Amino acid sequence: MENCIFTKIIRKEIPAKIVHEDDQVLAFHDIKPQAPIHILVIPKKELVSLEDLTSEDQMLVGHIYMTIQKIARSMGFAEAGYRVVVNCRDDGGQEVPHLHFHLLAGRGLKWPPG
Ligand code: AMP
Repeated sequence: MENCIFTKIIRKEIPAKIVHEDDQVLAFHDIKPQAPIHILVIPKKELVSLEDLTSEDQMLVGHIYMTIQKIARSMGFAEAGYRVVVNCRDDGGQEVPHLHFHLLAGRGLKWPPG
């Protein structure tokens, strides 16, 4: 994971538009937004995908969701609503091998996804 783009963002080796950071989590704007608001929320812990979570990570996952709620409220789109997506491995459409939660908002989102 040394060369992973998100690891480099965590280490501040490449820039990102950061909206939240704490000791466990980093959140920043997606470089290729799929909605008017598209933020990626990632754990600082090096986890490749959702399939790499273990029971040790339960608090971390809870913290990620509470961080998403905090971002949605502070950026003013909590009331209108939003979507959280985790792409896992090849069939899930995951391209970056570091667990990340897509936070999408700012327009009515269609269902089902592609
Ligand atoms: P996924 O397909 O679920 O792995 O999503 C990876 C996401 O990372 C895509 O939405 C990309 O647009 C986004 N992305 C890739 N490189 C960067 C970057 N340097 N800064 C911000 N977002 C990025």
